[in-house]
This record gives sequence, structure tokens and C-alpha cells, in this order.
Amino acid sequence: MALIVQKFGGSSVANAERVFNVAEIITNTFKQGNDVVVVLSAQGDTTDDLIEKANEINPKPSKREMDMLLSTGEQISIALMAMAIEKLGFPVVSLTGWQVGMKTDSTYGNARIKKVEPERIQSELGTGKIVLVAGFQGINKYDDITTLGRGGSDTSAVALAVALKADLCQIYTDVDGIYTADPRVVKDAKKLEEITYDEMLELASLGAQVMHNRSVEMAKRYSVHLEVLSSFTRNPGTKIKEVPQMEKMHVSGVASDKRTARISLIGLEDVPGIAFKIFSVLAQKKINVDIILQSIGRGNTKDISFTVADNSLNAAVEMLNANRDIIGFKDITVNDRICKLSIVGAGMVNNAGVAAKMFEALSNASVNIQMISTSEIKISVLIDRDDEERALKAVHAMFFNN
Ligand code: ADP
Ligand code: ASP
Ligand code: MG
Repeated sequence: MALIVQKFGGSSVANAERVFNVAEIITNTFKQGNDVVVVLSAQGDTTDDLIEKANEINPKPSKREMDMLLSTGEQISIALMAMAIEKLGFPVVSLTGWQVGMKTDSTYGNARIKKVEPERIQSELGTGKIVLVAGFQGINKYDDITTLGRGGSDTSAVALAVALKADLCQIYTDVDGIYTADPRVVKDAKKLEEITYDEMLELASLGAQVMHNRSVEMAKRYSVHLEVLSSFTRNPGTKIKEVPQMEKMHVSGVASDKRTARISLIGLEDVPGIAFKIFSVLAQKKINVDIILQSIGRGNTKDISFTVADNSLNAAVEMLNANRDIIGFKDITVNDRICKLSIVGAGMVNNAGVAAKMFEALSNASVNIQMISTSEIKISVLIDRDDEERALKAVHAMFFNN
């Protein structure tokens, strides 16, 4: 007997038929003698629909009220699933984030989990019930509802797996594992049997939305046994763990991220302290900066370009303009039609030709590179958004089709 946490995403519970399909997966796991804790997302496009509803009423609602609204989607899912499982004749209880003691900080819309108080779940498991938990939501020190950020149900699941010391955490979704690229875009992407936490973390952070990146970070920290698999098929999924058995591949996957924008500050003075001024101004507003490129000074001036998440672009530009005199730039330009394309692989640090191969693929596809950034485990390039799909396919083919 094991304690298993299972998480089902929105498409897995989108309608009555899907709900019963998932109820069967859950009850089969339970029938095998396991303790089962289930985390559910909102059905289908519910979260997007709620955001649209809010927009109709007030395009700039307070984040607190937004969380109050968005958390309802997950509550619908757990109640309906509990009813389906009741109908199949199994003991079940559904619980909200508050009821399972999912304590978060107060960053509405992107709250971080501080701790989970597992007693309620443990006592329900003790009476032989299947426990269903609303994903994506928690509660802060004011007893207000918070949400964990888009895709956050994965993180709810891993947090529960940690708190309950679960033997396994299964993330059920609409693809049967982690692929070498988004299988909906790159048709011949290959499924990985296993992938390291670090590689998965990079892929998730670089745009592969299949896993919430914070869930992978937490799974790594607490060595949670993670598995990504499909609720639509019975195919074996992908295991995420520390050391894969197989020899490490040079490149394990390709990802792209549209949610990024570039800012350039032109005509900065070429003296010490300028970068400090720019990035401390942005840090004050908690704006994260990603790829940074500084030109070599010519005459007495230089330019600095960098990328930010597209949803913090306006705040960043506002903040920079407000501090224009202190920073001392002549002009500011913005490009929000870009995308970041990355290759990820734990093995590439010791392999000299990887970057060249990526650039060759882009060159053959006539894709222009605007910025480049590298680390031990990834290489990212900034390209025009219109080139995204072509570039993704070309780079993927270069590494995986030979
Ligand atoms: P859920 O609703 O189950 O949380 P998501 O939509 O968040 O599902 O994530 C699943 C989607 O992630 C897939 O449908 C797929 O298009 C996308 N995806 C992006 N990159 C990858 C990848 N490398 N491997 C698998 N899926 C990927
Ligand atoms: N329902 C939330 C979202 O759409 C959380 C999740 O699905 O993980 O972002
Ligand atoms: Mg998701």
C-alpha cells in the first residue's frame, strides 16, 4: 500500500464524460489498496472564462477579488468529482485549499506556499476516504483566498505530496509525458522515458507549460517521485527524477516562450554604475529581468537591452521613464513581438558543438537572432515571434531527427 497524490489538469476533467473517466482512474488506484489524494484543476477553459467575465465588469480589479473569483473554478471540479465517485460507490470527500491548511504568502495572483497543515487530510484518509483537494488555491494570514499563478495546480499537488510524505506524485494531463518539444507544434517530437529535475525545471521555466516550474523546483528540493502521464491513454508516462539511468543526452528538449518582451535603453553614459541604476529601479518594483545585452561603448555612450515578462512590460517602462533623469538614457524602445527559443540539456556543458548546431539550424531556416544567452544547461536565443514555429521545428530537427 502506498500514498499516491494524483493531479488532473483542466482538459482531463472538462466535461461529465471526462470526469467519469478520471473517477475511474482514481477509484482503480484506490481499489489497489492505496491511499489516494487527488488535486484537481478547473474544468476546461473555466479559468480563462472567469478572467473574461471579470474584464467585462472591471478591467482593473483588485488582485484579492480576482483570486476570490478564480478559485471558484477548482471548487466546481472537486465537488463534481466527489459526486461522480459517490455514484461509483466509493467513500470520498472534497476539500478547499483552506480546509487542507494550504498556507501561502499574500501575493494575490501568484502566491507562494509557506506550509501545509496535513492533519485534516490525514484524518480523512484514516477513515478510509479518497480525498479530493482544490488545486491552485491557498489561504493567507488574513484568511483570504489566494491563487498560486496560472498552472499552479501542479504546485498544489507537489506541496501535498511533500506534506503527506507521499510515495508518488502523478501529474495527469492531455499528453502522455514530457516530449523533446511541444508535441502539438512539433509533430515528430519524441517522448522521454525520464528527465532530470534540472532539465524539467529549465524546460518549464523556458516556456514548456506542461509543468508549473515551481512544482518542479519543489519536487527537486524534497526529492518527490514525479511522473507525468495522460488521463486519455494508458501509455507509460515520463518520470522526473534526479539521475536518469540512461546516458545523459546532450540536448533533452526544445522550448519556446512568447510571454517575453525586449526593452532597449539607448545613449546611456559609458561610466560605472549605470547597470546598477537601471536594474535596481526595476528590482524596486519586483520586475525580473532575463537576458541582458550591453553594447560596447562608442564615444561616451552605450546601449543596454534586456527582456522582461510581457505582463511586466508596462510597469517596467513606466518605472524607467519615471527615473529617466537618474539613469540618463536618450531613448527607450520596446519590442513585444519577440519570442525566446531555448534548448535544454544537462549533457551539453561538456559538448562544444551544441551552440554551433543550434545556430546552424536557425541560419538554415533564415531566422535572425537578436540576443543570445547561455548557461551550463541551456542556450536561449531571442527571435521574431513570427519565426517561432519555423525555428522550433528547425532546431528540433537538427538535434533529434538524425
Ligand atoms: P493541464 O491542463 O493538464 O495542466 P497544460 O495545458 O498545462 O495541461 O499542459 C499540457 C500541455 O503542455 C500539452 O498539451 C502540450 O501542448 C504542452 N507542452 C509544451 N511543451 C511540452 C513538452 N515538452 N512536452 C509535453 N507537453 C508540452
Ligand atoms: N486553473 C488554473 C489555471 O488555469 C490552475 C491550473 O490549471 O493549474 O491556470
Ligand atoms: Mg497545467
